Amino acid sequence: MLDRKPDKPVVLIVDDTPTNIHVLAEALRAHYRVQVAGSGLLAFDVIARQGPPDLILLDVMMPGMDGYELCRRLKQDPGTQGVPVIFITAKSDTQDEERGLNLGAADYVTKPFHLPIVLARIRNHIQFKRQSDLLESLAWLDGLTNIPNRRRFDEDLETEWKRAQRTAKSLALVMFDIDYFKPYNDQHGHGAGDACLRQVANALRNGVSRPSDLLARYGGEEFVALLPDTDPKGARIIAERLRGQVESLRIPHGYSDASPWVTISVGVACSAPQPDTTATSLLETADRQLYAAKSAGRNRICCSA
Ligand SMILES: [Mg+2]
Repeated sequence: MLDRKPDKPVVLIVDDTPTNIHVLAEALRAHYRVQVAGSGLLAFDVIARQGPPDLILLDVMMPGMDGYELCRRLKQDPGTQGVPVIFITAKSDTQDEERGLNLGAADYVTKPFHLPIVLARIRNHIQFKRQSDLLESLAWLDGLTNIPNRRRFDEDLETEWKRAQRTAKSLALVMFDIDYFKPYNDQHGHGAGDACLRQVANALRNGVSRPSDLLARYGGEEFVALLPDTDPKGARIIAERLRGQVESLRIPHGYSDASPWVTISVGVACSAPQPDTTATSLLETADRQLYAAKSAGRNRICCSA
């Protein structure tokens, strides 16, 4: 996902020779926030404390862990594998360059280097990285409502389910469905239908507020909320609040048997995962509760516990 980065991109220089660090740092300071590390181990230290930088300039020959080894480790760690690495080195053999690029480095610059070219390469690689981060983040968002999509939900459900299994804490899953949405779409038109979906998504998003909570569009007029560390009582309170928030939008709905306004039906499932159960069972339970809420007259919540 996209991390919130300060406006100036961050470049980490890793080199065991202070003069090299000094020359590069001076040249970069106008456009970048510069971090420095005198060895591979110190580089991990900086990353652990400050988070991954936008780009790493990496010397090859260093005592202890050399640049190749550091690069290999960075590319194995999911937290840093996307960070572009540019080797800057006096090792000018083509085999050395080949080795560096095969380790996943974005670029390889040999000394003595021409500073404006190094700066241009840094700029280009950071731009590529930002573009690919943006595309990556868009791939997890629903285009209409701008909230996380089904793909993101499926991933998070698996992750949270495993976490709940480890911690033996309760995981709540809430499913929402807009009541009589098909007649709404048919009668008010698809433009109004889209606007309605956006408004409902916004209301739900505002009501799901803890950082660990996830609200996603499940498909069509269905939404889901994943609430880690939430017991049935807590889940019921949140579900009821969200139902109320959608109703209080007062979106006129002339074709609903449940209300003059757009409303939602809500199914709530809650479970402390057992070793032999799966995330799918939680989803199925929530879906059954949603069906029960609809059968009971809509604009209401049904809970499994
Ligand atoms: Mg060196």
